[in-house]
Amino acid sequence: AEAVTETDAVVIGAGPVGLFSVFQLGLVDIKTCVIDILDKPGGQCSELYPEKPIYDIPALPTVTGQELTDRLMEQIKPFGAAFLFGEQVSELQRGEDGRFHLKTDAGREIRAKVVVVAAGGGSFTPKRPPLAGIEAFEGTSVFYSVRRMETFRGKDVLIVGGGDSALDWTLSLAPIAKSLTLLHRRDEFRAAPHSVEKMRALVADGTVRLMIGQMTALHGEGANLSEVTVKTADGEERIPVTALLPFFGLTMKLGPVASWGLNLNENLVLVDTEKFETSEPGIFAIGDINWYPGKLKLILSGFHEAALMAQQAHKYVHPDKKLTFQYTTSSTNLQKKLGVK
Ligand code: FAD
Repeated sequence: AEAVTETDAVVIGAGPVGLFSVFQLGLVDIKTCVIDILDKPGGQCSELYPEKPIYDIPALPTVTGQELTDRLMEQIKPFGAAFLFGEQVSELQRGEDGRFHLKTDAGREIRAKVVVVAAGGGSFTPKRPPLAGIEAFEGTSVFYSVRRMETFRGKDVLIVGGGDSALDWTLSLAPIAKSLTLLHRRDEFRAAPHSVEKMRALVADGTVRLMIGQMTALHGEGANLSEVTVKTADGEERIPVTALLPFFGLTMKLGPVASWGLNLNENLVLVDTEKFETSEPGIFAIGDINWYPGKLKLILSGFHEAALMAQQAHKYVHPDKKLTFQYTTSSTNLQKKLGVK
């Protein structure tokens, strides 16, 4: 396990609401660490609709999901939040020291004075290919993301899919794998055209094998995969595979949030509308993950919730300090924090 990370506040989820909470917490001198299972910020905005325009963000008549994410990242930059991407918060408990102890699925431990659950529609989770016995190979031979490229050195790698993840990893892993096969159900790719071009060049020079078809069976012993049966227009073929990377897209699942002992209302975390605090003092829930009478799952509601949450979080993180209401427009104190004065 890695060293324990210490911070004032952990924000679970780097969707638009989690990102804006870094700003509101920063204004009241709370340091944050933001964790997301995705490998990038933006939550639903960047994962589900990066190029679609949003029309109801105050003062931005039209902004795409990706642009909103980029602007939020720029706005919170002065506060120097730590970002942990590609990790899921799996455990959350109050420790004997009164602080919250969190663990991620990568074995990292984090301690914080307050926790902000901004988990949206839940964890983005990879879709599992419908193949018998695949679970047994997961984590040893079957991977849904690349945490360390070294894992794939000298392996017979099979990458399945036609999107950006499949193509990007084909290009990155081809030089270190023993062999690399890219399998997609048709000879058309959704990935960025320049990646597709590069992939075709690697296929042409024999570095990568491209197969059009689908997997029908996995073969191996225990957790170790050795071969995969691939069905193509020419029939079935068993190819040597010691590492399989299926990129079949993502779905959202509530995930570990349900097991943290917070009061729920139909899979949403119940909060008050004054502080957006959960049934556990010091744990807040903002954005799409929370519920209260009248809740609207809109980005602008989440922004408001973040502002009120930060007021209460300040009481836990700086119990000896009084908070006075200030405007960013006129407070030199706030402007210093923002780095504009
Ligand atoms: P999310 O964006 O869902 O982000 C939550 C993040 O938390 C995710 O990245 C997830 O991976 C992460 N996470 C969850 N659990 C864990 C865990 N245990 N560990 C680590 N990470 C975790 N809203 C509007 O206001 N206007 C619109 O026009 C609009 N259009 C939309 C169009 C579409 C197609 C969709 C799908 C949604 C639209 N929405 C719109 C809704 C809007 O996107 C959501 O309200 C918003 O994304 C909620 O933000 P959030 O930060 O609460 O959560």
